[in-house]
Amino acid sequence: MAMPEQNGKLYVVATPIGNLSDISQRALDLLQSVDLIAAEDTRHIRQLMQRHGITNKLTSLHQHNEAEASKVLIKKMQQGLSIALVSDAGTPLISDPGLPLIKLAHEAGMMVSPVPGACALIAALSASGLPASRFMFEGFLPRTSSTRKSFFHDKLDCPYTWIVYESSHRIQATIHDMTEIFPGQRPIVIARELTKMYETIINTTISQATELFEQDKNMLRGEFVIIVAGAKAEDKNKDISIEHEKLLRTLLKECSIKSAVAIAVELTGLKKRTLYQAALKLADSP
Ligand code: SAM
Repeated sequence: MAMPEQNGKLYVVATPIGNLSDISQRALDLLQSVDLIAAEDTRHIRQLMQRHGITNKLTSLHQHNEAEASKVLIKKMQQGLSIALVSDAGTPLISDPGLPLIKLAHEAGMMVSPVPGACALIAALSASGLPASRFMFEGFLPRTSSTRKSFFHDKLDCPYTWIVYESSHRIQATIHDMTEIFPGQRPIVIARELTKMYETIINTTISQATELFEQDKNMLRGEFVIIVAGAKAEDKNKDISIEHEKLLRTLLKECSIKSAVAIAVELTGLKKRTLYQAALKLADSP
C-alpha cells in the first residue's frame, strides 16, 4: 500500500535493559529528532535522555491508557508528526505495551519502523550455552503455583529451548515448582541482572538451581530470565521429577521394587514402565 505523504512515521525504539550505554546511535538520533516520544513511564525514559543529552516532548502510553492514548497518537501522525514508541526497558511489545498503537498504525496505512536494540530474552539466550537455533518465548509465568505447575506439565516434553521472564518475588517458588515436574538433571540457565553490576548467568540443572537459591539469598534479588533446555527424545518418559524420585526412594526403603512401583503408579499417575526404570536406577544407587 502506498504511504500517504503527509503521515508521520512510527518508530519502535529499543532502549537498554540495564546498562544505559546499550543503545544505538540511530536510536539516540531518532529520540532527539522525532516530534514526540510515547513512553511507558516518562520519568524512566527521562533518565536515559538526560544521560545522552536528549531533550524532547514526552507523552505516556502504558497498559492502562493505551487503548485511548493510541487513537490520539494516530491522529497526531495523520497530521504529519513522527513518534517514537519506547518502553521502560528493552524492546517495546516484548512483555510490554504498544500492540494497540502498532495495530492502529498499520490499519491506517502508516509506516512502522523498528529501531532494534536490547531485549532481555535474546541477551540471555545468546550467553546461555543452550541451543538457540529454535526456541520459544513464553513471557511471564502464571502467578499461582497451581497454574505454573500445569504450565510446566505442558512444557515437559517440549523438544526445544524455552524462555520465561520472572520477578524476584516469585523466582524461588517458581524454581521449586519446577522440581515437582521436571527431572532434576534438566539443564537450566538463570540469567539475572543482565548488563548491570550484579549480572549473573548460571548454567546448571534444575536440582542444583534449587540449592543455589536456598544457599545464596543474594541470588533472589533483581530481574530474571529463565531458560530451560528442551527434552531430548531419548529422555522422553524416562526421567521422573525430583519430588517423584523422593517418593519412590521412600517407598523403596519399605517395600520391594514391584510394590513400590505399584504404589507410586497409584499416587503419581505416571506410567508403570517409567517408574519401574527409575526404581531400578535408584535401587542400584545408594
Ligand atoms: N521489553 C523488555 C525486553 O525487551 O526484554 C522486557 C520487559 S518485561 C516488563 C521485564 C522483565 O524482563 C523482567 O521482569 C525480567 O524478567 C526481564 N528483564 C528485563 N531486564 C532484565 C535484565 N537486565 N536482566 C534480566 N532480566 C531482565
